[in-house]
Amino acid sequence: MTSRDLDVDAILSGVHDEVGPDHRSGLVALTGRPNVGKSTLLNHLLGTKVAIVTPVPGTTRNTIRGVLTTGSEQIAFVDTPGLAKPQTLLGQRLNHLVRDTWSSVNAVVFIVDIAAGIGTGDRFLAAQLAQIGTPVIAVANKIDEVSDKSALLPALQSLDALAPDGQPFVAIVPVSALTGENTDELLRVVTQQLPHGPRLFPPDAVSDQLERQLAAEVIREKLIERAREELPHSIAVVVDEVVPDEHRDDLLRIDAVIYVERDSQKGIVIGRGGDNLKAAATSAREELEKLLGARIHLTTHVKVAKEWQRDPKQLGRLGY
Ligand code: GDP
Ligand code: MG
Repeated sequence: MTSRDLDVDAILSGVHDEVGPDHRSGLVALTGRPNVGKSTLLNHLLGTKVAIVTPVPGTTRNTIRGVLTTGSEQIAFVDTPGLAKPQTLLGQRLNHLVRDTWSSVNAVVFIVDIAAGIGTGDRFLAAQLAQIGTPVIAVANKIDEVSDKSALLPALQSLDALAPDGQPFVAIVPVSALTGENTDELLRVVTQQLPHGPRLFPPDAVSDQLERQLAAEVIREKLIERAREELPHSIAVVVDEVVPDEHRDDLLRIDAVIYVERDSQKGIVIGRGGDNLKAAATSAREELEKLLGARIHLTTHVKVAKEWQRDPKQLGRLGY
């Protein structure tokens, strides 16, 4: 998703005003090095799976938005990857997208893996965040993995030290995204950063944008699970629309195009007799049926977009 997908007029025309004067709403970005637990935390906060959770670093390429609506607040979350040294055009685009996102949100949640310790990657990210000026909430994730609790305080102090002089973190919140420990406190702190105001999104509607993104991410995840070594960075999945069937409103039609970079990869994705693609599509369909609460008719096409990562036109078309 790019920032242009946030159609502010459409959002504002759908404003829901049946909330009290203390209601708060806004946009919040989650960021951090690969594998610190951004997707896990987002999933936990939203109570549903909206971003890929995977041990393969760096697979959450798009920023995925999930909206948390309660009686007293509405928080739209954006999951951004951490900045990395760009090696391809795709990398440069991603960095721009990430910076744009950081500057357009009400707060950034900066996540570190406190069990693994603070590293140069975290330091780099903290320095980049400091240049943007958006309030930053630091999250020390994976406290369930810290068995020696006396080690936690010095670790939190070294996290605190990542904020530049005169620009401290709004708060430092230790949590476990896995068990949910202290995530209530995180939500409280995040909400404090949001302005008072009505809801920005309908309380129940999941936008088509989100469903498309979700469908594309789940399909991509299922393909990557089956081809971990070679393919992860060569596969892009585009879902143009998620539409209810004309005759049955409990059935959604999803049409997905899977892009690879080379003919040989097309063969790998499809597999012998179509077996690989069939298996991936089936497990993607089953997962999406659970997530979206509807029966799904999923069709897939595999296309070769030569060197799409290096071609600006193709990148635009693939939504990067
Ligand atoms: P991302 O790359 O930052 O989005 O990280 P993921 O959410 O994909 O998580 C990476 C790995 O860390 C996964 O194996 C998660 O299960 C694991 N993980 C995430 N949060 C926690 C946590 O609080 N505790 C533990 N023990 N593992 C976690
Ligand atoms: Mg992720």
